[in-house]
Amino acid sequence: MNEKTIRTRFAPSPTGYMHVGNLRTALYAYLIAKHDNGDFILRIEDTDQERQVDGALDVIYNTMKITGLQHDEGPDVGGNVGPYIQSQRKNIYLDYAKKLIDNGEAYYCFCTKDRLDMIRKNSEALGRPHKYDKHCFHLSKEEIEEKIASGIPYVIRQNNPSTGTTTFEDEIFGKITVDNSELDDMVLIKSDGFPTYNFANVVDDHLMGITHVVRGSEYLSSSPKYNRLYDAFGWDVPKYIHCPPIMKDAHHKLSKRNGDASFEDLMEKGFLKEAILNYIALLGWNPGSTQEIFSLEELIKNFDYKNINKAPAIFDITKLKWMNGEYIRMLPIEKFHELALPYYKETLTKNIDLTKLSELMHTRTEILNEIPEQIDFLEALPEYSSDMYIHKKMKTNYENSLKSLEKSLPILENISNWSFDTVHDSMMDLAKEMEVKNGIVLWPLRTALSGKQFTPGGAFEIADILGKEESLKRVKIGIDKLKQVQ
Ligand code: GLU
Repeated sequence: MNEKTIRTRFAPSPTGYMHVGNLRTALYAYLIAKHDNGDFILRIEDTDQERQVDGALDVIYNTMKITGLQHDEGPDVGGNVGPYIQSQRKNIYLDYAKKLIDNGEAYYCFCTKDRLDMIRKNSEALGRPHKYDKHCFHLSKEEIEEKIASGIPYVIRQNNPSTGTTTFEDEIFGKITVDNSELDDMVLIKSDGFPTYNFANVVDDHLMGITHVVRGSEYLSSSPKYNRLYDAFGWDVPKYIHCPPIMKDAHHKLSKRNGDASFEDLMEKGFLKEAILNYIALLGWNPGSTQEIFSLEELIKNFDYKNINKAPAIFDITKLKWMNGEYIRMLPIEKFHELALPYYKETLTKNIDLTKLSELMHTRTEILNEIPEQIDFLEALPEYSSDMYIHKKMKTNYENSLKSLEKSLPILENISNWSFDTVHDSMMDLAKEMEVKNGIVLWPLRTALSGKQFTPGGAFEIADILGKEESLKRVKIGIDKLKQVQ
């Protein structure tokens, strides 16, 4: 027997940014569908008319395009079950809400904001969760008709029982049973005629044939109410896959409010899209092996949603940086050069062999936007303290540093074909001749050439990139500096 084709959806609200949690939902939904040759659908959930943001749709489309999470159906590519933008489906929801009213599963509510506030305050005073008191459920048919006719604004609420229990099954969190007394008669249709997320998601997931609903665990607690809606309509309940929260640390969720990572922020910081996707795939999913680097194709092959974790995932930027570094090293050098070029241009105006620089930086870059601070010393020797010549491990001090530099200078001046190799060989010879450890010659030289504690590459690479003239100039400055402290 043929299994039903898997259909998943990514249903973002157009907020104007792509939070990494949303991108992870998109990725998991995509992987679940593609793992089984299923369909991945993009649906825009824009029924909150007060929260419209200009350009927000483009952010969504662009992210899907850049990341390669290509949807099979959606507002921009079409499909058989559209429209795929909820605001264009307004009348559909109202029709379905009316069906629920007809069979007693929903009712009109005309309560004013003041009355609702009062109920809320009462619940707070009693230390109970807010719950609508079914006041309007008891209105007669005539009263309802009269109020509607006289133009009193209304919402439509779900009619939940207050006794018994409701159970639902989540693929990750298992069986969850709640007392019906906890279920609020949530609003299905708002007074502006638009549906709430709570209603629209159920209607659309059904009408769009979604088989697996993938979303954040913040929706877990509402899912019993969604199940009651499916049951009220007599519809099959889809499989629920709620993903664990993504945390900034043990106590704080990664949230826009805390200025935390969105996909755009990460791209701007110079992370590669492949690394971001790979990293977020592992935020809450366990591949069941020690493999950490996965291409999108490998993820499709290996992804089994049963291995999504329940425990919150911590967004570890250090780990992401490491992974990004791995991806950078996997790039062909020409590609790296192309990506690094804008960052070089931002920092360097001098005539520097950028291809050579890329050879150096390719293996030493974790994220692209750290390039400027790593190479700024090539443009101009920074102000630095003579104390930097003192290095315990290298056993350097002011005196032996000065001596090394003074001995190095004429040798360097004599090099006619300046290169990594010629500088290398001459300095190694010098260390031998002076009967000192290499560090006694090389630490002062690198310090003089860079004025920095940490540099990509050592003295030879830097000398090679700076060229003879600039290198000699810097060695002389180093000598003068050290003379002043003797
Ligand atoms: N529009 C909801 C959100 O952006 C989608 C939740 C869902 O996937 O059902 O959070």
